[in-house]
Amino acid sequence: MAITRRNLLKASACTGALLACGSSAQAAREAAMPAGALGILYDSSLCIGCQACMVGCKQANDMEPDPEGGQTIWDNPADLSSRTLTVIKKYEEGKARTRNQTKDGFAFVKLQCMHCADPACVSACPVSAMTKDAETGIVSYNKKACIGCRYCQIACPYNIPKFEWHKPLPQIVKCELCRHLIAKGGISACCASCPTGASLFGPVELLKEEAHRRLLYEAGHYYEFPLHDIRSGRSVVQPAALYKQKLYGEKELGGSQVMLLSAVDFHHLGMPELPDKSYASTTETIQHTLYKGMFLPVALLGGLVYFVKKNAEKLHDDE
Ligand code: SF4
Ligand code: SF4
Ligand code: SF4
Repeated sequence: MAITRRNLLKASACTGALLACGSSAQAAREAAMPAGALGILYDSSLCIGCQACMVGCKQANDMEPDPEGGQTIWDNPADLSSRTLTVIKKYEEGKARTRNQTKDGFAFVKLQCMHCADPACVSACPVSAMTKDAETGIVSYNKKACIGCRYCQIACPYNIPKFEWHKPLPQIVKCELCRHLIAKGGISACCASCPTGASLFGPVELLKEEAHRRLLYEAGHYYEFPLHDIRSGRSVVQPAALYKQKLYGEKELGGSQVMLLSAVDFHHLGMPELPDKSYASTTETIQHTLYKGMFLPVALLGGLVYFVKKNAEKLHDDE
């Protein structure tokens, strides 16, 4: 068969289409959480804003005080920073009289890394400085591998990773679930410090069961709420709040290992509304379609061959 322009274009288009079909037939990547995933259930309705979790976190992770905290004699950071891995913030409305009430009420929220099932920070990092542990699911940071590009910061939908701008050799800083304590048989320091059980450590599956149990509790009735570690057997009896019927973090972006319950809407607590499908999965599906199936390179090559041939024909005609 003579190589005509039409044949060439037809061939490259068909090859590209076939390879693209093959690529899209690859199973779309699902957010995976290891069977032994560990996490935190934060119940805003139980939180009294004492900030013991923040103190425990600073101590366990040897973090320096945050100068942004105002003119107090103690460390009182207003937000997450390169010196603060977790922070308690407050929602308040009107006269802010009643806890766990939207109107004329207030509520607390604890911010930290969500340890996403399919973390955008891991997907965005070009040198694998951010990794998700295959056993515990903890999203960790390797300062030796980091090149300081800050792609993880841009990618994170929760705005969690912070950069040490104040240091000559800055690094990324974020909660790693106190993996150094967990490795020695301990638990996250914030949960170990919490007096009400608002921050509860444990296997994600058990935490989910506990959360769904609480969603059925009758507001104002007294129940046992586990303390520190859901497996510890320790608990405190307190009244249940009128929960919003949602476990935040169960579905968002494929789920996360840190989950939240609340008596006020989550957007009041500053938690973003997010789709169920992870951003990492969406962008990687597009990349895989374009590159792994070789659709884009084949299409580019086809175009290149076409233009080279066209120029060669033109040169030949000119001669
Ligand atoms: S919350 Fe942000 S930093 Fe934490 S795992 Fe998810 S994407 Fe990464
Ligand atoms: S898990 Fe550890 S590092 Fe993360 S917020 Fe709690 S105390 Fe801080
Ligand atoms: S220690 Fe517990 S109750 Fe106190 S602020 Fe932290 S999460 Fe809330």
